[in-house]
Amino acid sequence: MPITIADLAKQLDIAPEAVVLHAMDLDFEIPEDDMIPDEIAAEIRKLETSDVIAQVDHEFEEQREREIVEEQQKRTVAQKKVVPRKKVTDKKKEKQEKIKEKELKKEIITDKEGAIILPEFLSVRDFATKISKPIPLVLIKLKKNGVIANLKQEIDYETAAVVATDFNVKVKKESAELSGEELFRGDVSELLADEEADDLIPRPPVISIMGHVDHGKTSILDYIRKTKIVDGEAGGITQSIGAYQVETNGKKITFLDTPGHEAFTAMRARGARSTDIAILVVAATEGLKPQSIEAINHAKEAKIPIIVAINKMDIDGANPELVKGQLAEHELTPEDWGGNVPCVAVSAKTGSGVDKLLDTILIVAELAELKANPNRSAIGTVIEAHLDTRKGICATILINTGTLRKGDAFIIYDQHGKIRKMVDHNGEDLEIALPSTPVRVYGLVAMPQAGDILQIAESEKAARKKAEEVAAIVHEDELTKRKKLSLAHLKAKLARDKMDQLKVIAKADTKGALEAMIAELQKIKTDEGLVRVVHSGVGEITESDVMLASAGGSVILGFGIGVSSRVLTQSKIENVKIILENVIYHLTEQITDILNNRLLVEEREEIIGELQVKGIFASNKRMAVIGGAITKGKARKLCRIRQFRKMKNAEGEEDEILLGEAKADSVQQGTEEKNEIGEGTECGIKIGHKGLDFQIGDRIEFFVAKK
Ligand code: GDP
Repeated sequence: MPITIADLAKQLDIAPEAVVLHAMDLDFEIPEDDMIPDEIAAEIRKLETSDVIAQVDHEFEEQREREIVEEQQKRTVAQKKVVPRKKVTDKKKEKQEKIKEKELKKEIITDKEGAIILPEFLSVRDFATKISKPIPLVLIKLKKNGVIANLKQEIDYETAAVVATDFNVKVKKESAELSGEELFRGDVSELLADEEADDLIPRPPVISIMGHVDHGKTSILDYIRKTKIVDGEAGGITQSIGAYQVETNGKKITFLDTPGHEAFTAMRARGARSTDIAILVVAATEGLKPQSIEAINHAKEAKIPIIVAINKMDIDGANPELVKGQLAEHELTPEDWGGNVPCVAVSAKTGSGVDKLLDTILIVAELAELKANPNRSAIGTVIEAHLDTRKGICATILINTGTLRKGDAFIIYDQHGKIRKMVDHNGEDLEIALPSTPVRVYGLVAMPQAGDILQIAESEKAARKKAEEVAAIVHEDELTKRKKLSLAHLKAKLARDKMDQLKVIAKADTKGALEAMIAELQKIKTDEGLVRVVHSGVGEITESDVMLASAGGSVILGFGIGVSSRVLTQSKIENVKIILENVIYHLTEQITDILNNRLLVEEREEIIGELQVKGIFASNKRMAVIGGAITKGKARKLCRIRQFRKMKNAEGEEDEILLGEAKADSVQQGTEEKNEIGEGTECGIKIGHKGLDFQIGDRIEFFVAKK
């Protein structure tokens, strides 16, 4: 009958640790249930009676422990002879274990202060190897600290740290790392949210400047750059590296130097968390304009605080009160109207109010409790990158957390390298860069994209390994490259998080239609959730809409409008779902279906053919029969179709606009119904649709869902 360690220890009147030591002498691994089989128990009894190990029982002083281990090691050698001969497989196993141990030893990594880096969880065996202590001693120390474990069992870092301290060994928790998948997606949010509170210290806020064109974004950034940056020793020329840092009242503020919400949202769409506070610049001479409202919605979507800079106060007729009234209409009630939105009157021309703006930023930043952990390897976000004719590819990195050091091995997307040179906005060489600092790094081998993540690895070898992981994903997933938020993902998210709202961006051809559409959308409430309109506007669907949808996981709804080819391409890259409809009821029907998880998932599609419309044989609100020749590929019964038309886009350029999607109910050659019709053939297609209007010259694309 097998016996537990505790019972056997009791029988022999020794400590359970002594039983464990004996078991190890016999090369017996304690199983999960701590049961010792008969033959091993017998061996242990034999050992115990002829042994000195019983002394381990009581004391845990350093000296005693050392003696025990020495004795134990000596006996291990002697004992090997009495232990029944091991089978060949055992030997093999032993060899493998030894190799594993050796490998582990090789992998012992220390930080610059010599502390051994340990992961969040590790087995007792691996822990003992890493801190170079005998397993029995580790088990004894664990026991002393109230943890009864066997060597295979995993212990957490905190437990390991206590034992290590007992041994006088310095250890440090391994910094959380981004997986290849997260690097690929550029998603740093989870890692940043996961930092241990104890490790965090305040960091400077990172500011983005947004607002309508010509309201003075660039002028404000320029004024602050010129007047507030302490010039460097090396000539004092502030370079434009895409971001800069100023100091005011002894505190630092980082400004991203690319004004506009487009840049901000494009970064966010990549998963980057680069902005803490948005400054909305509104010219007091003009008040809120469409792009100001877009900017407000983009900042709201990102859930970051907004400070309003009411600019051009030097101009006669500047009317800040008008601006405040308009802000209040958009749920941004100014502080002096009893709300919580700070508004600062400024002039980028004279500089009046700019100091107050900086002070306000510091106040808002303090409330936001922005923190980072400087004592870990750096994670940063690419702000911009370009080719310098003399210095090669360089990139500006904003450090999100950790400290970046010259000489660090890094990964950015699928490339890896070593930080050989880094400079600040004054062009001065830096040895280290702390959280929220923008730095320019040199010596990249490939051009990264804004929003890509830089991660530091323990070694160049580890960096290469990680980069290869990313490259494998890129290779595997060429089609959905760099993206994520497809409808399928949205729905998975709906299901997983019990997300109770579907975010939509609503665009329509007229104000009346837009209002009607929003009213209908807001009425939708299913068991699964409701609709939240994150942004709405009259006019074309823009690239900015796509990026906003991508960043926040929204669906774009277009009513009575088309999509230009450029925006369509971008929506495909970003995997953003655009639904175009001409009948409000059909739009709300589709949204209800998404919420109820009924809409077919079109994860990936395959375009199978094209046709040029040459004739319209029948047409009403529900169906059309069109005729034409297949110009490419084929048409298939029951495939889906997209209707495109050459016309002017919002910028007045000739473009091919997507007008809608529908289904090919049947395909006919002459009078004969076919399953499929190939290239060059004249045919008729019956299209079931909801309010599309076909014209001669339209291009029809046939597509099917890819399996
Ligand atoms: P952005 O498109 O928002 O970046 O706007 P700019 O910074 O390029 O400014 C647009 C125009 O407004 C430029 O001609 C600026 O000189 C002018 N401007 C910007 N701020 C002020 C200001 O405070 N006062 C006056 N008088 N003009 C300004």
